[in-house]
Amino acid sequence: MNRVFRGVLSILGLSILGMFCVLTVNPALSEGRADGVSEEMRAIAIRLRDTVLKSDLSYRLDEQLTTEVGPRLVGTPGDRKGVEWAVAKMKELGFDRVWTEEVTHVMWERGEIEAEIIAPYPQKLVAIALGGSVGTPEAGLKAEIVHFPSYAALQAAAPGSLEGKIAFISYRMERRIDGSGYGPAVVARTKGASEAARKGALALLIRSIGTDDNRLGHTGSVKYDADAGKIPAAALSNPDADILMAQLSRGKPVVVRLRQTSERHDQTVIKTANVIGEVTGRETPEDFVVLGAHLDSWDVGTGAVDDGIGVGITLAAARHILDLPERPKRSIRVVLFAAEEVGLVGAKQYLERHRNELDHHVIGAEWDFGVGRIYDMRPGVGPEALNTIRAMAGILAPLGVSLNPDNTAKGQSDLSVLGEAGMPAVNFSPDGSLYFDYHHTENDTLDKVDREAMKINTAIYTVFAYIAAESGVNFRK
Ligand code: ZN
Ligand code: ZN
Repeated sequence: MNRVFRGVLSILGLSILGMFCVLTVNPALSEGRADGVSEEMRAIAIRLRDTVLKSDLSYRLDEQLTTEVGPRLVGTPGDRKGVEWAVAKMKELGFDRVWTEEVTHVMWERGEIEAEIIAPYPQKLVAIALGGSVGTPEAGLKAEIVHFPSYAALQAAAPGSLEGKIAFISYRMERRIDGSGYGPAVVARTKGASEAARKGALALLIRSIGTDDNRLGHTGSVKYDADAGKIPAAALSNPDADILMAQLSRGKPVVVRLRQTSERHDQTVIKTANVIGEVTGRETPEDFVVLGAHLDSWDVGTGAVDDGIGVGITLAAARHILDLPERPKRSIRVVLFAAEEVGLVGAKQYLERHRNELDHHVIGAEWDFGVGRIYDMRPGVGPEALNTIRAMAGILAPLGVSLNPDNTAKGQSDLSVLGEAGMPAVNFSPDGSLYFDYHHTENDTLDKVDREAMKINTAIYTVFAYIAAESGVNFRK
């Protein structure tokens, strides 16, 4: 079958599916206007959807960010350049108002890492320091490995039982479409070091929190508890975790040498910023719909996927709405958060600054998840707003989005901070099967970005923002 014919068939298929979904998920459309979405609004939203589907602006923005700025680890020159880039880009795109809000954090440097098995069968290992980790002594450390299949198994170890040892957690993350393999796996990365330190360990090694078979480690933040000593923490690539496991399976003591020069500078406060751009509403500009993404990234890739895609999608969605003949009733606020990777720091400081006006954040959606196409939208809104959500879903159904009946969404990533504080949200879920192959590795680069998926996902965020801003509906529970 040639490509064009296949394309036409798939468009036809989507349209038929779309009609079916409109009829099934949205009875309000045939019964009258209980959804706050007028015929005119609906027509504009459909036109907007179809225009955005033809535009690769979101991809081009990601390409510009990752080419002209590159990696954006908080506190580095790349982070500062990212903030400057975002301010200039929002102005260039024609946002009505652009500003920054200062975010502070402490400095961390990755340094270098060397890991090798000394006994029984000497071999080098590929490892990466976890973000925020302290380093080893200058000369490195040599110690026997004590293996745990999971974080829970480490928790069950007797106090003092790891004295002078290196703890190794081998838990393997499962690949799942919704990314739900991440939660049970990532606890080893975030909490493993403090737990191992409480048992007396000198250092922590984990199997990378990732689903690939590349010889690249996955970084990501470690959280040290105040009541535990800080020990160095690093992730082995998946194949290297296998090498270590194979040596452990021989039943002989396995000794590893680890030298890591990463450094925390807990007294050195660095300044970065949330970058905010607004499309000013024509009727109630003080109320706004929030589109969120994070501007910072890890240092090892270029952050094209995490979260350059989100930066591209949210900026492009606003730009497409700016192209309409008139502004929507409410404002649309794009917030490019700082310091997400190191613990949602920008989002938490945003909430402190804006807590008094949280009621004006009428609803929000964030993009910070993967390269796939959105297949599911889950609202978290009051019952009165459900018909509006259904009308939105009807317009998005031809793009392959189904409406999740579970009305409990509280916002993703940065926006989970505002969602927990009471802001209504819609969570859009893309196919996340591939995301954790690249996540927090040197492989997070532009070639992984799916241009077609990005067009579709941008169309979805644009329609969401437009309808939420134009309808005037109260989304609060
Ligand atoms: Zn992210
Ligand atoms: Zn991340």
